[in-house]
Amino acid sequence: MSSAVEEDADEGEEEVDLDELEEEEEEGMASQSAQEALSRTQDVDLPNGWKPGEPVPYAALAKVFGLIEATTKRLEKTALLTSFFLLVIRRRATGDTQSLLQAVYLCINRLCPDYMGIELGIGESLLIKAITESTGRSTAVVKADLKKEGDLGLVAMNSKNSQKTLFKPKPLTLPVVFKNLKEIAMSSGHSSQNKKVSIITKLLASCQGQEAKYIIRSLEGKLRIGNAERTVLVALSHAALLAEQEAGGCIKCSSKKLNMEKITARLGKLYSELPNYDLVIPALLNAGSTGSERMPLKPMLAKPTKAIGEVLDKFEGKKFTCEYKYDGERAQVHKLEDGSIAVFSRNSEDMSKKYPDLMEQLPRCVKEGTKTFVFDAEAVAIDVDTAKLLPFQELSRRKRKDVKVEDIKVRVCLFAFDLLYLNGEPLLHLDFAERRRLLQEHFRPVDLEFQFAKASDADTTDEIQTFLEESVKDGCEGLMVKMLDGELSRYEPSRRTVNWLKLKKDYLAGAGDSLDLVVVGAYHGKGKRTNVYGAFLLACYDADSEEYQTICKIGTGFSDEALQAHHGALSPLETAVPRGDVKVGGAKPDVWVEPKVVWEVLAADLSLSPIYTAAQGIVEERGISLRFPRFIRVREDKGADDATGPEQTKGGKKGKGRDADDGFW
Ligand code: AMP
Repeated sequence: MSSAVEEDADEGEEEVDLDELEEEEEEGMASQSAQEALSRTQDVDLPNGWKPGEPVPYAALAKVFGLIEATTKRLEKTALLTSFFLLVIRRRATGDTQSLLQAVYLCINRLCPDYMGIELGIGESLLIKAITESTGRSTAVVKADLKKEGDLGLVAMNSKNSQKTLFKPKPLTLPVVFKNLKEIAMSSGHSSQNKKVSIITKLLASCQGQEAKYIIRSLEGKLRIGNAERTVLVALSHAALLAEQEAGGCIKCSSKKLNMEKITARLGKLYSELPNYDLVIPALLNAGSTGSERMPLKPMLAKPTKAIGEVLDKFEGKKFTCEYKYDGERAQVHKLEDGSIAVFSRNSEDMSKKYPDLMEQLPRCVKEGTKTFVFDAEAVAIDVDTAKLLPFQELSRRKRKDVKVEDIKVRVCLFAFDLLYLNGEPLLHLDFAERRRLLQEHFRPVDLEFQFAKASDADTTDEIQTFLEESVKDGCEGLMVKMLDGELSRYEPSRRTVNWLKLKKDYLAGAGDSLDLVVVGAYHGKGKRTNVYGAFLLACYDADSEEYQTICKIGTGFSDEALQAHHGALSPLETAVPRGDVKVGGAKPDVWVEPKVVWEVLAADLSLSPIYTAAQGIVEERGISLRFPRFIRVREDKGADDATGPEQTKGGKKGKGRDADDGFW
């Protein structure tokens, strides 16, 4: 699927870059932060009321969130979180793995693995209702406070703390908060709104100190403490190692010399093979291990390139292959020992219900002796009469739920390009050439249903150019160029690496790559555009600061129907003031829009701007804005947090990618 300028844009804050983690290890930062963590446990601890064997008090988590929010230093954030996790591990009852698991989930604002699709993100009006019911303040007053503060968490906390109560409520515990949040996220149906308000109201009634602030922010789906998932992962790893060393009785000597290789290996294992905290944490605490065919792996991603010359430079002297880059939807296909088949999306969502036809088709391409597997593929819409591939837009017309095979109009063909597990064995560490050989050996092409990604071992500029043009003629987006053998050809889940490069057809025309941006405001239309919005304010998403940074006003590329559709989709999201996590700058749209909708946008160039806030302070004091932005399409598959990050717009060195020369502009 054509994504955008991207790099970790699509990855958002939830992705972890192991390169970066490894760099930290090398720089000795890990041991520094782990040592600091030991000296910070007192700061993090509650003076009274957190006894070994008892459930973790929610106040302890709120306290550590407060301390993390108060610092901008990543090392300090890591140390504080490490201290907290260490206390949770030290004080847990024998055999308890849930406390740490729940603490980790609350720190990354999730409640379960991604693919289960249970999310928070409760609307503002519902939260305001609960705050008014719990504190007795009027809606008007709460709304006025929100306008002033721009943060409902803060408003809830202040409302609570100014409330006089006769009795101190019973302290909240982390398991109770977690259970309630999950119940809220899972409740659906017509009476669910009331049920949600009632649970939140009760939770708020028990809040003390800073607790209300973080409960409300968790419910909103944004903690806003500047705590990226990679920090949580490093802290978790350090805490587990420190706890292990304490248990071994050598904490004094070893805290000075934490075994870096061990930490790095642990992180690598955690993320590469078990991208699921439900399994990672018990494995970490019990030093056990688990197989991972049952859950989706985070997909490996590619870096964009500007020109064929760049491909040749990067892969000089190495064996590589070019494959068609199909314009469809990523599909990770799993078959388990019990014979069940599942298809997962790029975001680890279970797509089996969207693709009942694939479920029916799949057994036909599996050869005898291929019992269990995980393969990586692109699902592409196909015209069964002409065998022509259709663009992604056709695929996106399919319903996502309750799809019946007999109603399906848009047929799908799978183009497999990698094999990750086979008959119970992980293949991630094998050379790509070998994985591809195994893929072709264990599956068979079936007309209009299953094919291997078309590949060429072209290695001169002319050959690559010809293959690129051919791919575009065949309805693809361009090429994926992949390293064939050696260390660098391993499959690396969740990584956007230079070992996979994408060469899109845009490069043929010399245009820039696209960006995925979030709509945060809109301008009323005039003339022909009266009654709809005529232009929009867009923002990129900075995962580190958890804020949306404005980047341009866009009014080009929209058909009349598109403007109607955008009005329909965006007007229910209108808000009187920008949401607290939108870094506004000088832009003044007629209405603000809750950051939810992501659009793919092409721009001719970048310029510096005193109005917009994107990448402010990265390049210089002024922000960056897009020149001549043009709307391409809605990215329904992306959440607001998956939008392009500010580092990717500035060109040159990127926040997570760390590739000095892969800027676009
Ligand atoms: P992008 O979405 O632009 O970052 O490009 C990466 C996406 O291209 C992957 O996530 C796949 O969904 C898709 N894709 C299409 N063909 C291939 C291929 N041969 N190898 C890897 N990914 C592919």
